[in-house]
Amino acid sequence: MDIHIPLPRIKLLNPDFPNKSTGIINGQSSGLLNWNDIAYPQIYDLYQTLLSNFWKAQEINMQDDIKQWDLLSATEQDVFLRINTQLASLDSLQTPTMFQVMDYVTDSSFKAIFAVIAQQEAVHNESYSYILSSLVPIHEQKERFNQAKSDPLVRKRNNLILDAYESFRKNPTPQHLFQLGVNSINLEGIYFYAGFAFFYHLARQQKMLKTSTMISYIQRDEMQHAYFMAQFLRILLSENPELYTEANMDYVYKSVEQAVQLEKEWAHVILKDIEGINLDEYEKYTEYLANKRLRQLGLQNLFKERENPMPWIHVFSDEMMNETKSDFFEQKSRTYAKVTQSNGFDEL
Ligand code: ZN
Ligand code: ZN
Repeated sequence: MDIHIPLPRIKLLNPDFPNKSTGIINGQSSGLLNWNDIAYPQIYDLYQTLLSNFWKAQEINMQDDIKQWDLLSATEQDVFLRINTQLASLDSLQTPTMFQVMDYVTDSSFKAIFAVIAQQEAVHNESYSYILSSLVPIHEQKERFNQAKSDPLVRKRNNLILDAYESFRKNPTPQHLFQLGVNSINLEGIYFYAGFAFFYHLARQQKMLKTSTMISYIQRDEMQHAYFMAQFLRILLSENPELYTEANMDYVYKSVEQAVQLEKEWAHVILKDIEGINLDEYEKYTEYLANKRLRQLGLQNLFKERENPMPWIHVFSDEMMNETKSDFFEQKSRTYAKVTQSNGFDEL
């Protein structure tokens, strides 16, 4: 396989092919999904986990936060609104990107996961609008959403992700799919966290707890998404060893490092006036996160190994995540592309 040749946009139904696909890309697949006949049965567990996380914004009554809003300082209000719309702008990218990937992935069970993730991103996006509409009048909501577009640092951050996403849109090659996956992990697994930290910091002071509840639901989803994407990439690499090159592993380390730098830079700007969040500690936290993402990909730590320096950001603990996630590589795939010990994919 040439990793620089665009993937074909496959027909919806190919009755001559098996229902169980022969590959996640370039596979033969009828397009008919029978969950009892799939190449990676563990995908079904993940699908169930994603569905069991289902929530929607309106389930959370914002009354308490509405009452507390006026008690926040002007700085807290400003940061609150800026972070809210910046997070919304990230989620806005994810919904269509997940749908786009579906057109080129040839395994129907993976397509189903991308569909569920896209749906969840739409819910996240709506929840930011919902929070904003509870707290400020429409003209300010609009202004804040525009602010998220024009902020130069937000733009710079988004560009790392957008370059990879747009490359795949223009030229959907396996190589670009790989790069898209890496940057999706940067977005969901690193970029969200200065924002999350701010809301949890308010919650530590018993402020805006309804917003924090919503944020913790979003975080729970994002942890699953980043985990899924890491699994997806590992399967992609193991089925397509042409992608598993030193240059591509370098690409992962470099882009994760860049995401960490941009996240630190953003935290220093957006959180600088917030008392009680130690920015040196937050820098270490982003490094801790990056190491975790790399290990999920079966790669090495890029930064010094350390304990979680900000455990209060984790409303949903790693232990809880471990209960809900399934390790695709513990249960060996029943059919195609067995994962071997030598590919370094044993650590999760
Ligand atoms: Zn999201
Ligand atoms: Zn996500």
